[in-house]
Order: sequence, then C-alpha cells, then structure tokens
Amino acid sequence: MPGILVLATTKDGRLTRDTLELLTGARRLKEKLAQPVAAAILGTEVGPYVPLLFAHGADQVYRAEHPLLKGYQGDAYALVLHQICERAQPTVVLLPGDVMGRELGPRLAYRLQAAFVGEFIDFDLDQASRRLRFTRSAYGGKAVAVVEPRANSIVATAKLRTLEPATQEEGRMGEEIRVDVALEAPQLKTRLIERVQEETTGVNLGDAKIVVSGGRGVHGPEGFKVLEELAQVLRGAVGASRAATDAGWVPPSWQVGQTGRNVSPDLYLAFGISGATQHVAGISGSKHIVAVNTDPTAPIFKVAQLGIVEDWKAVATSLIRHCKELTG
Ligand code: FAD
Repeated sequence: MPGILVLATTKDGRLTRDTLELLTGARRLKEKLAQPVAAAILGTEVGPYVPLLFAHGADQVYRAEHPLLKGYQGDAYALVLHQICERAQPTVVLLPGDVMGRELGPRLAYRLQAAFVGEFIDFDLDQASRRLRFTRSAYGGKAVAVVEPRANSIVATAKLRTLEPATQEEGRMGEEIRVDVALEAPQLKTRLIERVQEETTGVNLGDAKIVVSGGRGVHGPEGFKVLEELAQVLRGAVGASRAATDAGWVPPSWQVGQTGRNVSPDLYLAFGISGATQHVAGISGSKHIVAVNTDPTAPIFKVAQLGIVEDWKAVATSLIRHCKELTG
C-alpha cells in the first residue's frame, strides 16, 4: 500500500528533533490521505532507533545498514533512499529542510520522476481535487506561494522548526523491514575524506528556548563576546545576521534566516539587526521578539513585540548585570 515516507536521522544516540518534526508532518498527512507512515533509517547499527520510530508514529521502518552508510554521504543516501522508495512506492517523501534535504530532495525527485516541493511551511488536502497543496514562503518571505503538485508522487522538504516534534507513545509497535542494501564504493562519485566537527559550547541554536542574536550594528567580533556572555547567563544560544557571519565575526553556522538556520525560541533578542526580510524569514516561529536598535525606523520593530531604541551594548550589559544579580 502506498504511504508517506520520512527520512530519519540520529545524533548522539537519539532521533533528531528534525526527524520528530517530520513525523508530525507525516502523521498529519496520514489523517488526510489515509495512508500509513513509514520511516527510512540509514546507517551502520541503527537497530536501537527502530522502536523509537514506532513510538513516534511510524507504522513501518525500513532499516538499511551498510558500512558505506556510516555518516551522511549524498551519493550513497540518494541511491539507497531510491531503492527504498522503489519498494515502498510512497506518495509523499518528507525530508528535512536542511543542507542534507536540499541535496537529497531534488536528486531523489529526479530519480523517482516525482514533483519536488522545497521548504514547505504548511500543507492541506484540497477537497475538490483531492490533491495536496503546500504552502511555502517566496521572495525571501515577502510572499506566500501555494503549490499543488500534479505528479503522482511528491518529494518535499519541510522548513525546520515550523512543525512541533511528534509525541511518544510507549509500546507502540510496527513492522520492521530489513533492506538488502545494494551499494558498492565505485558507484559513489564523491568520497568523504574527513569530517570536521565545529566546536560548540552551550545550547544548540536550533533547540534553544532563548536566542541572543547580533548583527552589523554590534560592530565586530568583540561585540559578540558580550552577546555570548548574555546568552550564557540566560542559558540560551547565540545567533547572527548574515552581515555578521559574512564579515567573519562569527561562524557561518550561527547565521539565522532564509539562507541560514530557522529558529523558533520562546524569546528572540535581536541586537543591532535591521530586520531584512531574509533575516525575519528565519525567526517568524519565535514566540516573542525583542529588538534593540538605535534607528527607530528599523524594520525589525515591525515584527518585534518589544522594541528598544538604544545602543545595543548599553542594553546587553545592563541585562547581564541584572540577570547576575537575580541569580546571585
Ligand atoms: P544591517 O542591515 O546593516 O543593519 C544593522 C542595524 O544595526 C541597523 O538597523 C542599525 O540601525 C543598527 N545599529 C547600528 N549601530 C547600532 C548600535 N550601536 N546599537 C543598536 N543598533 C545599531 N540575512 C540574514 O540575516 N540571514 C539570511 O539568511 C540571509 N539570507 C539572504 C539571502 C539572500 C538571497 C540575500 C540577497 C540576502 C540575505 N541576507 C540574509 C542578507 C539581508 O538581506 C541583510 O543584508 C542582512 O540581514 C543585514 O544584516 P544586519 O541587519 O546585521 O545589517
């Protein structure tokens, strides 16, 4: 029976939050299409994750293990995912809207002759045509596009942090399907030479409840040291605008926005950020936005619930002082 297929990923012995978000999307699709949810998990020793996938809503799990699947490798993943899709015949494949999904999605769609939808933020089933309609932002968040793919199968990447993570139902069971992986090293056009893990301390930007972000108005890397201290006392993570990452003040992985990370914290603090649409596209899932900017006409104030027209450093240092006083 055709179904919905989710690509599952893991980190530090757990299913990633991205996977749990995709499973929420898949469960919603299941209700609309009356089709089962399958998950594909690729790697070397992925057995322990199978029950977790069942518990979070998968009815079937395709388990693909092979030494060449140790760690993500685009060629290998595209080949094996294609093998799984040929067997599962999914109507919708859901991938995360990150670097991996952006690489795999179009490759898989081409192989399956499926329609591709990039970074949807919502979807619904049109009752008249019985076709799925995906909503995605367009023109850097200035417009919303509604896409109705006409193909029989769809590969779609979900914009991360727009869906809530799937909840767990202890003891929920499903069907495990072992995939006989047909993969040889010569089939892979690229070779992974080295994996360099960026050193990170503190809270992960994508999962943080509080994000302290800086932009060009912070005037240099020293400014980010102050923001890092504020993030530390608030137990949050530091983000940045593209102006700050392009200037080399902070690593590119800190960039928030259309071409950076999407964040959905309870509190987003924007220091010296003008609020370009490409930046705002990545923070629209935040519950509260507080902006500090010396220019009262800065567009960031249009999306902020609280705006402070002030020098960023005066506000940040005063916040650090008050937080330290409160926590003793
Ligand atoms: P600016 O726009 O220069 O704003 C700096 C702000 O700091 C100003 O508002 C100023 O009033 C304020 N300021 C100055 N001094 C102080 C002070 N002492 N105290 C307080 N405030 C002060 N940008 C992103 O951020 N993320 C993206 O993912 C992204 N993707 C893009 C994709 C494309 C295709 C394109 C074309 C652009 C993208 N951009 C992205 C860039 C975006 O258009 C803006 O150029 C960028 O966000 C501006 O960064 P900024 O707000 O830090 O700098």
